[in-house]
Amino acid sequence: MTTPHFTIKNKFQKRPELYEDILTKDILGDVCHRLTGRRDFTVTFDNTGYNIGRLAILEYNDVINYVSFSEFKIESRNSFFQSFPSALVKYHQETNPNKKIYFYFLRPDSNIETDYFLFMYRLMKTTGTIFLNETDYLTTVLTPFNTVSDIIVQRDLNRERNRGNASSYVTVDENDTLQIFGKTYGANKYETTLLCLAIYEITLYPMELYEIQEGELKQLPKDARNVILSLGINVITSDLILERKEFEVDDSLRSPTYTYNLLEKLGDKKCAFCGCEIPQIIQGAHVWPVSEIKKDETLSQDEKLACALDGENGIWLCQNHHKLLDVNIFRISENGRVQCRSEIKGLNMSFLKNITKQTQLHDSIFSEKFTDYLRKRNRNLKESLYYEMV
Ligand SMILES: [Zn+2]
Repeated sequence: MTTPHFTIKNKFQKRPELYEDILTKDILGDVCHRLTGRRDFTVTFDNTGYNIGRLAILEYNDVINYVSFSEFKIESRNSFFQSFPSALVKYHQETNPNKKIYFYFLRPDSNIETDYFLFMYRLMKTTGTIFLNETDYLTTVLTPFNTVSDIIVQRDLNRERNRGNASSYVTVDENDTLQIFGKTYGANKYETTLLCLAIYEITLYPMELYEIQEGELKQLPKDARNVILSLGINVITSDLILERKEFEVDDSLRSPTYTYNLLEKLGDKKCAFCGCEIPQIIQGAHVWPVSEIKKDETLSQDEKLACALDGENGIWLCQNHHKLLDVNIFRISENGRVQCRSEIKGLNMSFLKNITKQTQLHDSIFSEKFTDYLRKRNRNLKESLYYEMV
């Protein structure tokens, strides 16, 4: 192709008059000049398909350049990033190997340099996206993430300030598999997609994406899902029917929904008794055990499942401490003190003292429901048979 040629996707330019409002000739000329060194170009509008990421595709010299444009208006922090992941999915579907993806800021109307925005830009850069005009709008220098732990740490720093806004979590399971838990509803699905595609670029771990059911939507949009699958990422839909089956056959209940609920309540995996943070050996430990829940005759099957999956009904424990709690060598008093069975003495007692650095559960774990589960757990465990760890 001798002259650079833009194809502009329809939803973005729903009415032809918007061509002048949003992507002016000056803006397209600027993009064209940055990518090809030329300012002359031709344009066609592609009116097929549906909303595809505020996307213009510039073809020149056998290279296909995907350019995603920012929103002008920032209605919410998530809405600003709704379009880009769709453009990224479309880009992944492009079969021509001579392809590149870019992001271009269109004079945003308010602050686009919050911590959350910077986090998202860095994820975008991690996917290999090139920012065309960031220095016109941002004072921060943006670098891609190098490791998944960088992403987890940054994400957690954000979360501290935005509790309740979290939609996705990243952790590693006991089999050394990187797990992404993502919601599939509303703006969350875009964040989940972006997180998957960014982590894919920098991890050697096998990856699993758990789609956390929310409302009627159980799965990511088809195109995003197919792209993620094509990269070899295992996609698992958390489905209450499956979880119920698991609940009925297995007392340990390794349910993704339960893990998700614990991540949401407690944050990243960290043993509540020793502080260990090696995710491969940290497990969700039920406070009111699944085997006890099953025996409760006052609850319906649905209510039992809800208790088994409730994030309030659990703490993170390392494998040692999980086992010690499960066999009731340890007990947790109603005020959160860690207690040890009196019969444990001598060297064994020293060992337990050595590995149990935290003998009082953190206040933030406590809630009415948590205490209620604790009471149910302790119903048959005589406090007189235990001493307090100090
Ligand atoms: Zn521990």
